[in-house]
Amino acid sequence: SFLEQDRAYFQAYSHVGIHEEMIKDRARTDAYRDAIMFHADFIRDKVVMDVGCGTGILSIFCAFAGARKVYAVDASDIAVQAKEVVKANRLSDVITVLHGRVEDLNINEKVDVIVSEWMGYMLLYESMLGSVIYARDRWLKTGGLMLPSFATLYMAPVTNAEKYSECIDFWRSVYGIDMSAMLPLAKQHSFEEPCIENIAAESVLSWPIVIKQINCKTITIAELESVKADFSVSSIMTAPLHGFALWFDVSFGTRVTQQTDLQSETSLGRSLAVDHDGVEICRSKKRAKPSDCIVLSTAPDSTPTHWAQTLLYVYDPIEVKQDQEISGSIELSQSKENPRFMNIFLKYRSGTRECVKESVMR
Ligand code: SAH
Repeated sequence: SFLEQDRAYFQAYSHVGIHEEMIKDRARTDAYRDAIMFHADFIRDKVVMDVGCGTGILSIFCAFAGARKVYAVDASDIAVQAKEVVKANRLSDVITVLHGRVEDLNINEKVDVIVSEWMGYMLLYESMLGSVIYARDRWLKTGGLMLPSFATLYMAPVTNAEKYSECIDFWRSVYGIDMSAMLPLAKQHSFEEPCIENIAAESVLSWPIVIKQINCKTITIAELESVKADFSVSSIMTAPLHGFALWFDVSFGTRVTQQTDLQSETSLGRSLAVDHDGVEICRSKKRAKPSDCIVLSTAPDSTPTHWAQTLLYVYDPIEVKQDQEISGSIELSQSKENPRFMNIFLKYRSGTRECVKESVMR
């Protein structure tokens, strides 16, 4: 049942290790702290909701930024510790820790700010954003602030000869014995499911494909059930195509007051978006200059994070020439068996080859 599945999900967040990993991910935690402090003028004397507070760290940053009241919500038993942490830091009069699912809360006041660290692998794995949307629609005041406010999911074809030779070609000759019979099994074992690993920026074969742009103020739950994009890119080099890497960035909604040097920037994550007022939002991965916005990027050329990149390896590499087209489509959809799981349906072609790869991220 869904309740059983959710119990397993929240159970996973009751362990210290997962919180240690997230907090030690400095790119992540610094970006949130910077964003909260950057918006201190807005947050001061306001009401905040922290959806999925974990140890309470983001709620405490909001208290430091001058929030009048913070509702820190978590369904996992880590909320017990969050309460203690808040108390030990003498913030119990500002931060109220609520142990329960945000969907089951009864708060009878609207909030000015929603902060949440909801991103999973390939952005959408875990499907936690749905809970943030629920909270937004129920409690966020019009004109309120979402942190983060934008998210973008990217994909690019990659080459990774090392990985391929390590796990696959190795079987071609083992102690001088031809063990090619192992190849299908080895490929299935290594490539059936998505891999979470850091890929070198030099292994990326094209400019990134934007799979989905999310405006956290307007996105609906229905839009997230399935995300689909067609793509067509050309390879920047001659190399075997071994698969596709997915990554994301999120930005913390600052209006760009002056046009920055976006033109000259070469970041993989570069893009522009327009917020609900039609104001251009900077989406560069560069860190905040005062007039810039804050971006947390998990791109191959950014500081590595605990999300790394999500790699979809193909079973049989395709030799592509420089400038050769690689095209296809990708669809990420919530699994029927468990909406927190993700079905991945990838079609790709290059030259005369056309292939399909289906996988499930559990
Ligand atoms: N904010 C913390 C933890 C982020 S991890 C930090 O930045 O370190 C996400 C947390 O959200 C987990 O602790 C998980 O238990 C919680 N969570 C996910 N969905 C939730 C929901 N629907 N209701 C309440 N908590 C939720």
